[in-house]
Formats: sequence, structure tokens, C-alpha cells
Amino acid sequence: MSIYLDHAATTPLDNEILEKILPYFTGDFGNADSPHAFGRRGMTAVDTARDTIAQWIEAKPNEIYFTSGGTESDNWGIYGLAQAQREEGKNHIILSAIEHHAALATAEKLRKEGFEITLLSPDRKGKITTDSLQKAFKTNTGLVAIMHANNETGVVQPIKELANLSHERGALFFTDAVQTTPYLPLSVKELGVDALSFSAHKFYGAKGCGVLYLKSGTKCKGLIVGGEQERGLRGGTTNVPAVLACGLAYEKTRKNLPQITEKMQKLRSAFLAQLSDLDGIVINGEEGLPALLNLRVEGVRNFDLVYAADLQGVCIAAGSACASASIKPSHVLLAMGLSEREAEESIRVSFGRENTEEEVIKGATILKEIILRLRKK
Ligand code: PLP
Repeated sequence: MSIYLDHAATTPLDNEILEKILPYFTGDFGNADSPHAFGRRGMTAVDTARDTIAQWIEAKPNEIYFTSGGTESDNWGIYGLAQAQREEGKNHIILSAIEHHAALATAEKLRKEGFEITLLSPDRKGKITTDSLQKAFKTNTGLVAIMHANNETGVVQPIKELANLSHERGALFFTDAVQTTPYLPLSVKELGVDALSFSAHKFYGAKGCGVLYLKSGTKCKGLIVGGEQERGLRGGTTNVPAVLACGLAYEKTRKNLPQITEKMQKLRSAFLAQLSDLDGIVINGEEGLPALLNLRVEGVRNFDLVYAADLQGVCIAAGSACASASIKPSHVLLAMGLSEREAEESIRVSFGRENTEEEVIKGATILKEIILRLRKK
């Protein structure tokens, strides 16, 4: 049986939650917008999930929009807010250079449509500072998009300060919280953001379901046109079982956050301890999310390590899942100032709730043997 250490890419659906959503694929299959008993049962499940998420993140239920995942939420949030800001005469947008491709590609699309884009580089530790943001504002800046935590390094950004500054300078603030939802107690009030995205499959919900939080009163254009679902802003028949799973998985996550965090810290320490007698292992980025480690393994190319580890039953990543199909060095590590060579020597290891300390130690031991072997070549 393989040892799965790639939870930042995705997590399995929680078994208890699977049991609870199964009826919505068969007996309770109704379209949530149908005006009859089948539809009402579907809508009740969707409303419950919306209320649950709203409560936990300190939002109002009508500020929660369900989407098909983190990519759509990022696309919609950034594109929709930017389009609305253009109507106010603002067509300059600031993003961090380490955003997920879902955000960066949206910015690129906006650039082709006449927007001016500024990309902020992080410091060597992976942090975006308020100083660098301060310098990037222009009179026509309408939107700032900076992710809550990075998916390759786990470095957490000072969102509250960055959002405050953006508001002082008359810009809206969007944050991608896809990687933080499994590990940090999010409150949109506390963070002070206008919009926020996350994705259910990162915290043991189903794939194909995400959330966009949009503060009420914030002007944002819809992205997917069609029916009147999601208050007319996001057409398409609601994915009732996945939405229900998203609410249940988020509630379970928030209720168990202290235990989850403690377990992830233990697994992370056990993994690092196992590698501690190896030279040339460097942690990229400052300590952030407890379940994620980005390590530079000097003298070993990440793809060689990932493939050799897979052959021996250990599943890790070379950068993010979306980038792993390409062999380009990570844009995140390059933006942090690492050389191409250093980026190509970097791997991502991410732990999960079902991992045991024993298998994490075993995984690290196997990796260690492979590293020693590859370094000899
Ligand atoms: N944003 C971040 C930070 C992510 O890590 C991911 C997925 O890895 C996404 C967005 C995209 O989410 P999804 O896979 O749900 O489309």
C-alpha cells in the first residue's frame, strides 16, 4: 500500500460524509431549484451547507456562493471584481507573483483585455510585505489579490494588514484561502477581506465543489451565465451532494482544528527528524501551515526523486499538483529568489489526517535511501 504524502494536492472524501451524501445521488436526487418535494429536499441540504459555512467563517449565508472548485472561485472572484472595478474607472490590479495559476491566468486574461497588472514578489522567506504592496498602488488600482497561504511552501501571508492597506488605498481585496481552510480558523470579519475562495477537496470534501465568499454590497460580475442559481450570479444545476459534503467537511474540520493541528505538527517533526542526519536539506520558506513542507534536496533533481519514490510506494510532489505535469521550475520558488537549479531540487511533502506517525517515518526513511542513492550517481 502506498504512503500518501501529497495532501496539499487533494484529500480523500471523509467516509462518514460519504455515507451522509449517498442518498442525494439516488433517492433524493432532485434539482435543488425544482418547486416540488424532490427539489425542496435538495435545497434544504444546500441551505444547510451554506448556513454552516457562513457561521464558521463569520459571514452571512447570502455572501456564500457555491462553485465547481478553487479554480472557478479564483477565476470568478478576480475577473468579476476587476470587471466591476473597471466600471468605476479603475483598471489596475495587483497580485502576488506566487498566486496559484488559477489566479495568475485570470490576471493574464485581464491584461489582454486592457487591464494593467502588477505582480508583487515575495521576500526570500516567501512573504509578501505591506511595504512592497504600498509601493505598487496607483491612483487607478481597483483590486489586490494575495493568497492566504501558498500551496507550494505553506507560507501564510499577513492578510489582515494587506487588506487594511488596500482599503486605505481605495482597492478591494481578494484572497485565495484554498490551502488555509484545512488548517486555520478563518473569519472573513477578522481578515477584513471583500472576497475569498476555497475548495472542498482540500479538507476531505468532494472534488468539484468550491466556495466564493463575496461581502454583501461588493460589486462583482458573474462568470458563468445560465439559470438563476446562486442569486443569479452563477448559473448551473447545483451539485447537491458535493455542496452538502463541503458544509459537513468544513464543520468537521473546524470542530477538530486543535487536534488536527497538533497531529500535523507531530507528523512534520517526525518526518524532519528522520532526515536530520542528511546534509543539504533546506526548508524553503518560513514556517507556515503545519501540514506542508517544501524541501530543497541539494544535488537531487525533484522529478528523479518523485518518480523513484513513487516506484517505492511513497507519493510526494515536485511543486504543486497543477504544475507537476510540466517540467518547468516552480514560479513560486523562482519568485522567492531561488535559482532554477535550486527550484528543480525542491519537493513538496504534505501530511494528512489519515497518516500515521509510523508511515510518515517509513516514508521519510525510504526517501532518505533514495536521496543517498541518487546523490551517488
Ligand atoms: N488555489 C490554490 C492555492 C490551490 O492550491 C488550488 C489547488 O491546488 C487551487 C486554487 C485550485 O483549486 P481546485 O483544484 O479546487 O480547482
